[in-house]
Amino acid sequence: MPKEQEPKAAQRVRLILGDQLNAAHGWLHKPEASTLYVLMEVRQETDYAWHHIQKVLGFFGAMRRFAEHLRKNGHRVLYLTLDDPRNTQHIPDNLLWILRATGATNFSYQLPDEYRLDLQLKEFAASCGCAVEVADTEHFLTQRNEIAELFAGKKQYLMERFYRVMRERTGLLMNGEKPAGGQWNFDKENRGRPPKTHVAPPPLFFDHDLRKIQLMLIAHGVKTIGTVDAAHFSWPVDRMESLELLTYFCAHLLPHFGTYQDALLPGQWALYHSRLSFALNVKLISPLEVCQAAEAAWKADPDRITLPQVEGFIRQIIGWREYMRGVYWAQMPRYATLNFFGHDSPLPQWYWTGKTKMACLREAITSSLTNAYAHHIQRLMITGNFALLAGVDPNEVDRWYLGIYIDAIEWVEITNTRGMSQFADGGIVGTKPYVSSGAYINKMGHHCGSCYYDVKDRTGPKACPFNALYWHFHARSRDHLESPDARPGTMMRVAMVYRTWEKMDASTRQALLDKGDELLANMETL
Ligand SMILES: Cc1cc2nc3c(=O)[nH]c(=O)nc-3n(C[C@H](O)[C@H](O)[C@H](O)COP(=O)(O)OP(=O)(O)OC[C@H]3O[C@@H](n4cnc5c(N)ncnc54)[C@H](O)[C@@H]3O)c2cc1C
Ligand code: SF4
Repeated sequence: MPKEQEPKAAQRVRLILGDQLNAAHGWLHKPEASTLYVLMEVRQETDYAWHHIQKVLGFFGAMRRFAEHLRKNGHRVLYLTLDDPRNTQHIPDNLLWILRATGATNFSYQLPDEYRLDLQLKEFAASCGCAVEVADTEHFLTQRNEIAELFAGKKQYLMERFYRVMRERTGLLMNGEKPAGGQWNFDKENRGRPPKTHVAPPPLFFDHDLRKIQLMLIAHGVKTIGTVDAAHFSWPVDRMESLELLTYFCAHLLPHFGTYQDALLPGQWALYHSRLSFALNVKLISPLEVCQAAEAAWKADPDRITLPQVEGFIRQIIGWREYMRGVYWAQMPRYATLNFFGHDSPLPQWYWTGKTKMACLREAITSSLTNAYAHHIQRLMITGNFALLAGVDPNEVDRWYLGIYIDAIEWVEITNTRGMSQFADGGIVGTKPYVSSGAYINKMGHHCGSCYYDVKDRTGPKACPFNALYWHFHARSRDHLESPDARPGTMMRVAMVYRTWEKMDASTRQALLDKGDELLANMETL
């Protein structure tokens, strides 16, 4: 990356954050000599969480590519690398000297997706002495405050209702006013378990040499987690590559996406998932174009790509993704403090190494450390499930999820982690805690066969830890789930679990509780 010259005079400075790489943004339609675009690599961002090395490389790699793209299109760009001597490593301080050096009288920024950046830029804008313009990112299909407005006065939000509104608004998978196929949701058909020998198509990799960035990070002592082959960085870093990944997904993965959405297969870390979350979250591609491409692929070949496959995919994007963003803006900053069950155990150390005898957890954590990625069901029903059963402090769980994934940005990380996965919000996002015993994990995949533990055993020395912990969690959480602070109807949704618990004889219940206590006391050795 060539070093920038001293910035010359400009009337307007426009800030583009690392997750605002939207080439179609209205700002960029035509170059203006009086406007300077500013992008910066700062310690403020590398250090607010302990990020995976691939996440930092992915962000900086994509930002540099985006800056090149802007320059090629005639825009004036000031790109501050992390090692630039002028870089104060702090966004407002950098902006201050840039505004002074250029003599700009106008400062513009796009609405940040993170609460902490929103606050920081609002404060800066109020004190910078310039005329300030705040623009939309022109990426999402909803406004920040829409969930709050749609569900005003309600204690909980209903994703399904929101999703229908989104289908109607976008016209995706609609036959006039009716949903295509006569059904809004084909979730029940999204629960297939592939045979053990099933092999999904390989993930599509790109090949970037990002060693210079890696060396810069090392030289500056930026602490990261996980591993990378920086000479062959494999994630998309520009729009063309993101579109290529989308095309690959529609051609090869979408035909089975829905069916195997919840499946777990050893050795196949991406299965039929799109791996588009990074490209989407840094806005290299838009949610609408992704969904339209999937819909077009279905229409072009409905025998190969059936409606449940494409509906399952589109629901994740116009449903869950937009919904999570709305929940975030409706609930922050309070959301980051919620701990419905009062959990306070530390996260087991092996979450940072993958060194556990539990095959399903070992694979999910190892994939996370190696690929900066795990698919949704690994995040929810393996690592998240276990952390909830083990009563881990949601702050620790959040810290792990916010660092480890290439797609982890707080608005979508915290709502999934604290909300969907840990039920720490008491059911604002989820209708009941997403927990399971080993039986579910065995049903959805093939890890148990090769595990040190016995999935069918509940209390013996080699019993699958998920089993006793599952009952221990329900027994200790009953008061919470019954309390008026829980989402209305939660107890009804878990009533079956408690009926089964009550049908067990007292000695079985006690044995499960004792085993649960033993597991909780020996977390680090599992
Ligand atoms: C505990 C936990 C933490 C998570 N943290 C993140 C995170 O930091 N960043 C992130 O982008 N997603 C997060 N998710 C949601 C989801 O797991 C990822 O979006 C998905 O695994 C990314 O892989 P993919 O692109 O292959 O997704 P696919 O399975 O191919 O799905 C397609 C797209 O749908 C969207 N999507 C799917 N599920 C969700 C969801 N629950 N919420 C929001 N969007 C969704 C994503 O944009 C994704 O790219 C988390 C889920 C859980 C349970
Ligand atoms: S036996 Fe239990 S710990 Fe082992 S893979 Fe199966 S569910 Fe995971």
